[in-house]
Parts: sequence; structure tokens; C-alpha cells
Amino acid sequence: MVDISHLKPYQFQPGQKAAAKNLSETQIRYAMDNSLSNAGAARWLHVTERTYKKYASLYFDENGVSLYQLHMNRYAAGIKKQKLKRWTSKHHRDTLREVLDGTAPNRRQPSKLLEKLIKAEYFLEECSVCGFNERRVLDAKVPLYLDFIDGNRKNGKIENLQVLCHNHFFLLSGNKRGKQPEVPLGYGFDLRNL
Ligand SMILES: [Zn+2]
Repeated sequence: MVDISHLKPYQFQPGQKAAAKNLSETQIRYAMDNSLSNAGAARWLHVTERTYKKYASLYFDENGVSLYQLHMNRYAAGIKKQKLKRWTSKHHRDTLREVLDGTAPNRRQPSKLLEKLIKAEYFLEECSVCGFNERRVLDAKVPLYLDFIDGNRKNGKIENLQVLCHNHFFLLSGNKRGKQPEVPLGYGFDLRNL
């Protein structure tokens, strides 16, 4: 066994520029001793799983098996159910169809729901009022929002939903969920009265 008594746990300093991670065999083995899986070891070292895999695959035990393979824990043995819970939570159990029928409340963030709706082709990727569908050069995203017509984000019935561009969301959806205007709409600011 390698002597690791002189090592301190690896600490990433916030605000510090991330340096190149040259993880040594000692560090990898130390992380393995303190975790149950490769993902756990990566978390323990404060590196991404990808970085961890890169270095853990470089070192081998006496049988020629890489440390990465050695530390695989495919069946999550010994890891508390609590940690795995998020994958089976209620949040993900209801199907999109149930939300759209109104049999299940919408628990997704509007943007996530919109993403799903467009993928499943319930809506076109464009503003339902003006048809705006230009893409940002950077990442080809269209600035679209999902509007809940009655203002209730839990009501995911298809007839309560519409896709709006940035401008039309501002103009039509307004401040449904926020503070109501103190001056009644159309009073004093109606351009038609000027
Ligand atoms: Zn529009």
C-alpha cells in the first residue's frame, strides 16, 4: 500500500483559476479509498468525471486492470438510496401527456416544459403571434417563452399554453405573476386619449 499519510485532501480554492489537473496515482488511490464509485472519487477530488476518468485510466494495478475499471460500481452497491432518489422522483414520473391533459399538474420549469413540447412537436419553434424564429448565432437558440395563459404555472393543459417571442411575452403576458400595476391599465397612459 502506498504511504499517503503526508497528503491533505485536495482543495479547490474558489476564485482561483483552475490549474491543469495532473492527478497522480497516489491521489487517485487516495480518492478511491474515500469513495464508493468513480463518480464519488471525482467529486471527492473536485474534478469532473471526465477528468477523473482520463487520469484513472492511466494507472493499472498488478493484474493490469486500470484503476478506473477497478473502481467501477455499476450497481451502486453501498450508496444510500437517498442519493439516487432524484432519478426516480415524482418530478419525472408524470408523462408529458398527463400534464397536457390536465390529469397531472405541471412541475417542470416553463423553459424545460417548452423544450419538451418543441421536441415532441406540440409547438413549432416560433412565436405564435408574429412567427419570430431567428436563431442566436452563438448557440442557435430562439428567444422563446412558454406563456401560461391563466398565469398558473401548474396548469399545463395544452389550451393554457402558448409560445411567445421576447417582445410578445412582454406585451401580452406582462406581469401576470408579479406585482400588479398601481395605475389601472389604460388610465392616463392611453396614447389614444392624447
Ligand atoms: Zn412575437
